[in-house]
Amino acid sequence: MDRITGPEDNTLFVDRTPGKRGQKGPFFVVYADNDAETRWGFYCGNCETTDSAVDSMGRVQCNQCSNRTKAEEWDSAHE
Ligand SMILES: [Zn+2]
Repeated sequence: MDRITGPEDNTLFVDRTPGKRGQKGPFFVVYADNDAETRWGFYCGNCETTDSAVDSMGRVQCNQCSNRTKAEEWDSAHE
């Protein structure tokens, strides 16, 4: 787990194992705790921010660089 600072100066933890494959780079799963019990969101591997959103189709899109996943890849490769 990598410790990072979130948008509200909160401490977040990035799971650096391969997450979701985006068009510009991978998204890594972000947790609010070091035990990976509370999933917080996603970390964009392309521009290295946590400013991303998940839509109702399960697609992850980065608000900074427009990196995004395809819906059919949602959780299919892991979990
Ligand atoms: Zn990005």
